[in-house]
Amino acid sequence: MYEFDAIIIGGGLAGLRAAYELASNKMKTAVISKVYPIRSHSIAAQGGINAPLNNIEREVSDDWEKHAQDTIKGSDYLGDQDAIIKMCKEAASRIYEIEHWGCPFSRTVEGRINQRPFGGQGFPRTAYAADRTGHAMLHTLYEQIIRINEENKCLTFFDEWFVTRLIVEDNSIRGLIALDLKTGNLEAFKTDAIIIATGGAGRLYGKSTNALINTGTGMAIAYWAGAYLKDMEFIQFHPTTLYGTNILVTEGARGEGAYLLNSHRERFLANYEDSKRSMEIAPRDIVSRNMIREIKKGNAVNGLYLHLDLRHIGKKAIIEKLPGVVELAGKFAGIDAVNEPIPVEPAQHYTMGGIDTDADCQTIIKGIYAAGEAACVSVHGANRLGGNSLLETIVFGSIAGENTVRYLSSKKKSNDSALLIESAAEEEKEKIRQLFEKDGKENVFTLFEEMNSVMWNNAGIFREEAQLKEGCKNLKGIKERCNNIGIRYKGKRFNFEFYWLLELIGSIDIAEAVVMGAIERKESRGSHFRTDFPKRDDENYLKHTIASYSPEGLILSYKPVTLGYVEPAERKY
Ligand SMILES: Cc1cc2nc3c(=O)[nH]c(=O)nc-3n(C[C@H](O)[C@H](O)[C@H](O)COP(=O)(O)OP(=O)(O)OC[C@H]3O[C@@H](n4cnc5c(N)ncnc54)[C@H](O)[C@@H]3O)c2cc1C
Repeated sequence: MYEFDAIIIGGGLAGLRAAYELASNKMKTAVISKVYPIRSHSIAAQGGINAPLNNIEREVSDDWEKHAQDTIKGSDYLGDQDAIIKMCKEAASRIYEIEHWGCPFSRTVEGRINQRPFGGQGFPRTAYAADRTGHAMLHTLYEQIIRINEENKCLTFFDEWFVTRLIVEDNSIRGLIALDLKTGNLEAFKTDAIIIATGGAGRLYGKSTNALINTGTGMAIAYWAGAYLKDMEFIQFHPTTLYGTNILVTEGARGEGAYLLNSHRERFLANYEDSKRSMEIAPRDIVSRNMIREIKKGNAVNGLYLHLDLRHIGKKAIIEKLPGVVELAGKFAGIDAVNEPIPVEPAQHYTMGGIDTDADCQTIIKGIYAAGEAACVSVHGANRLGGNSLLETIVFGSIAGENTVRYLSSKKKSNDSALLIESAAEEEKEKIRQLFEKDGKENVFTLFEEMNSVMWNNAGIFREEAQLKEGCKNLKGIKERCNNIGIRYKGKRFNFEFYWLLELIGSIDIAEAVVMGAIERKESRGSHFRTDFPKRDDENYLKHTIASYSPEGLILSYKPVTLGYVEPAERKY
């Protein structure tokens, strides 16, 4: 059995930022990640990270309050205002910190960190490293982790390990069980604190910008252990993904001035009341819906997609500021983005909901913290503003790390849980053995794809009761068919067929939380649009949805939103 003061699950930006705190405080810490850390989805982030740095001259200056007000309005008033204030106050210092660590941000001519406009924000507030911001940040942070570990030697990396279960007793974390994908062996870990930084659940949907590893199973292990999930029905759909592959074309492209055009070469966003003023940089929920409406009106190019046109921006600026867009459009759509418009369609992009925490990243279970996209702190509410989630990872990653250090320092080490952990490990081994030996007729990958279609067709950009209920029924059907699964390949090393069965079991429960939350939220707010209830209803639904696990099935309840700074108002752009 392994033993650590703390364990971080996830090697993306949130996990590594938390690891930095634990290592600085010389806590013996494991970082467990199902992929090598710099392959985490954070690496794919393109457009940038928000902070009121004031590096672009404007008549009035930007500050944390304006950033907070934009974020609250963007969230359609569902974000917790204490958490949002905390994030916006810390934004600038966290960005300077990673800059001083060496993050190669793009520069203004004066040499300051450059900033571009992003959707739903009154200022050019989004700092960026060309259109590879996540890449620049994740490598910088990983370098720092290596540096600090050379000095302290207190971090141990378990790369390509998959956490399958948390062990909780008396409402406190005691340990966890993880599968070493390289050997196929299960191992037990004893610890007094964990930080869950397992990223989003984008791959519940077939059409998604997310890496295939973003399955949401990190949320599922917390949910099975008794933590709450919050606001799971809020799924962000990004307006511009490459038609067909759904690879992201950053909002930075529209921030730099790109147009969205229909088959008549018309900037159609001007024809819709909610996007006619902000046009291409209206928030993502609004632009995505209007794109689908435009496609349904019969104005799609070739009946299939819309165009994102960069050409008027000019070759020099395109190559300098959006090199990734040019490369992706060329390689994956055969389009020369400097000279041709890019075919785009909306697709799933971000999971606003997640593991319920307070503004200190603490869940309802002692010693379990969560940060990054896996968590719902909640700073994004019903709709995330682009550029706020990279910010969330480094702000709340560090807060989760600091609070874990504080918790461990104030707590007596628990020595009596070894037996409990051993018996949980035996139980898990038996469960895994039974799953591994299954030889039914159902195929793991087929069932995964069926879940993907259910989510896209029944819980997509536009939702209504009958469709959602049908989705819920279909998910239950898929879950039942999992009992009749067959694992054809019986090797233990990197058995991806088996590994994807474990992912599927987690993802289906998370999918159910999305759909059930959506059925009960009989209003439209942010990304959750009900055609049968098209208006926001603050009287009945200005509240967080909470999903908790029971062996009989998911239980829904609600809790209040933390208000007090900005009064809810109609959301107009
Ligand atoms: C294409 C794309 C572009 C984006 N662009 C931007 C942008 O420009 N600006 C912005 O603000 N946001 C952007 N986002 C969102 C942002 O990148 C993510 O929300 C953020 O990086 C998530 O970081 P994270 O650390 O929470 O999780 P991730 O980086 O997703 O890391 C999750 C980690 O958890 C591990 N893990 C998961 N489950 C398990 C398990 N069961 N056992 C062990 N390990 C596990 C994984 O191995 C991984 O290391 C973008 C997202 C996408 C998909």
